[in-house]
Amino acid sequence: MTSDAIARRETADALRTVRELWGELLLAIETPPADVWPPRQLAHTLRAADDKQLVADRAPLVLREHPAPLNMTALDTGLAIERMLFGLADTLAAAVQRAEADDPRRWEFQQPGAADARHAAGSRAHGLHFASVWIEGRVLDEDTAPEQQLDGTPTAPPFEPLPPHLLHEARRTVRVAEGRLLRTLGLDQRTMPVPDRPCPWCGGELTLHTDPDEAPRVTCSTGDDCTAPVPFDDRGRRVWGWNDLVGLVVALAEADPLRTS
Ligand SMILES: [Zn+2]
Repeated sequence: MTSDAIARRETADALRTVRELWGELLLAIETPPADVWPPRQLAHTLRAADDKQLVADRAPLVLREHPAPLNMTALDTGLAIERMLFGLADTLAAAVQRAEADDPRRWEFQQPGAADARHAAGSRAHGLHFASVWIEGRVLDEDTAPEQQLDGTPTAPPFEPLPPHLLHEARRTVRVAEGRLLRTLGLDQRTMPVPDRPCPWCGGELTLHTDPDEAPRVTCSTGDDCTAPVPFDDRGRRVWGWNDLVGLVVALAEADPLRTS
């Protein structure tokens, strides 16, 4: 694969990660800073009911009221990621957009003089998800072939192919945004002791292992003598993989019923 093809794929992957985790970030803004436990990847399992609402609300953070954000770091991250991707869309549109004014595929720039906030925001009003999909289209050179009007007259393509220097700028920007999102959500690669929650079977110390490309897992420090009903990992520690984690959440809650999570 050429370096351009690799850059296209990496950029598209990072944009998808940002889209998939955006709902988690919105939730994090309205939630006190997360404890290590339970792992955020379990949120969908433990809290399925809230997610519909998050997906439905795609208004950009920059146009919303934040009367009382409970996690300022998450809000700062969200606003920074919007700035990065909206700015990137502006840059790409200025370079390669030829679409007609009424074409819904157009990226609309901000119009500071417009009468109302939504028009002033241009395509930013559609939120981060739209911007991310739009950028992915440019990175993948979608809609760059000549098109035909209804009467068969050929028209110029809505977009020109992205020149290599902008492809690589897009890759850099999107990966910075992805990295910041993963760090803020605690989903980057790290190993953290689970504080104040000893192993319910042996009292050993539990450790949470996360990696953006893998499901989280938890290990017990005790080794052979731990009687937890889960397998050993290759270092002889009891390990709760993805399918066993909910069982561990339940066992910890039963061991210490005063905690809420
Ligand atoms: Zn144990």
